[in-house]
Amino acid sequence: MKDYNKTEIRDSLTLDNIFDLLQEWGGDPEYTSFGILSSTICHNPPGEGSRKLYYYENSGLFKCYTDCDCAFDIFELTIKVALIQSNRNMDLNDAVRYIAYKFNIIGSTIEEDDVGLLDWQYLNNYDKISEIDIKKQEVKLKEYDKTIANNLWACGCKLGPWLKEGISQAAIDHNHIGYLFSTDQISIPHYDKDGRMVGLRGRTMCKEDAERFGKYRPIKVNGQLYNHPLGYNLYNLNNSKDNIRTIGKAIVFEAEKSCLLYQSYFGFENDISVACCGSSLSSFQMQMLLDAGAKEVVIAFDRQFQEKGDQEFTRLVKKLKALDQKYRNEVLVSFIFDKNMITGYKASPIDEGKEKFLKLFKERIVL
Ligand SMILES: [Zn+2]
Repeated sequence: MKDYNKTEIRDSLTLDNIFDLLQEWGGDPEYTSFGILSSTICHNPPGEGSRKLYYYENSGLFKCYTDCDCAFDIFELTIKVALIQSNRNMDLNDAVRYIAYKFNIIGSTIEEDDVGLLDWQYLNNYDKISEIDIKKQEVKLKEYDKTIANNLWACGCKLGPWLKEGISQAAIDHNHIGYLFSTDQISIPHYDKDGRMVGLRGRTMCKEDAERFGKYRPIKVNGQLYNHPLGYNLYNLNNSKDNIRTIGKAIVFEAEKSCLLYQSYFGFENDISVACCGSSLSSFQMQMLLDAGAKEVVIAFDRQFQEKGDQEFTRLVKKLKALDQKYRNEVLVSFIFDKNMITGYKASPIDEGKEKFLKLFKERIVL
C-alpha cells in the first residue's frame, strides 16, 4: 500500500479543489475574502446546517462556528463526512489516500492495493447514486418520485417576483417550477439528461433564511430530503441537449434561474443553456457537455468582483484560466467576462436583460 505524505498532499490542493469537495458534499460553498464559506456538513447531513463552516485559505484549516470545537483540515473533514454521509469509518491514512487519488495528486495509475479506493470515489451521497460505471465515467443518480414537484408546481402562485424579473410563465410551467408555503421556497426540480427527477432544490424567498442557510438548498418535505450531488448533473441539459448537438455550443451558467431566463428570452427551440449549480464546473459536467456534442463551451459565470484588480477579480481570473488550461485540448472554451461592468456585482450575465446578455455574449473571450 502506497504511503502518501499528508502535508505534501494538503499543500498541493488548490482553493478550487476544496471548493469542489464542499460542493460535492452538499455544503453549497461560496468564495469569500478569507477563503470559502459553506453550510456545516461536519456534524450534520447536508441541507440541515447553517452557513457556519469557514475555510481559511491562509491556514488551510476549517472552523465550524456551531458544533465542532477545534479547527480541522481537509482530511479530518473527509473523515467526518464519510461517517455522516456514508456511514464509513475512515482513518487518517484512508482520508489522505482518498484525497490524493481523487485529485490525481500522486500518480495517475491505481496500484493494485488501491483498488479499494474506487469504492470511495463517490463517498458523498453514496446512497443517491444507483449505478456507477467507473471506466466510462458514467454515474446514474437515484430517481425521486416526481409527484411532489408536480404538486408544488400546482401551487406556484407566489412566483410573481420571478415573472417580474423576466422569466416567462411558459418557462415556469415547462420546468415545473413551484412554491412551498411552509418554508417560503420556490421549488426547482432537477432532472438528469434523460428527464428523470434526481433532486429538488429550493430558492428561499425569506431574507433571514438566505443569510442563514444560503439562497439555494435541497428541499425537505415530509421528512424526505431531496438532495443530490450537484457536480454529477447539469441542470437543464434534458431541455437543451438536442440544441447543443445541433448548434455545437453550450452556455454554462451558475444558477438554475439563468436557464429559465434564457428560455424566456430566446425560446425553447434555441435553448443551449445549462447550470452547474455552483461557481465551478466539475470534470463530470464538462464530460456531459462533450458527450452532448458541444464544440464550444461558453462559461457564463456571475460577475463576482467589485472592481477590476480587486481580490475577487484576481481569484475569478485565476479560476477561469485554470478551467481553460484543463480543457483547452478537448474543446473550445470561451468566457463571458463583464470587464466593463455593465451588469451589477454578483449578477449573472443574463440577469439584466436580453440586450446586455447579447452584448456580453458577442464580446466573449477565448484565452
Ligand atoms: Zn461542525
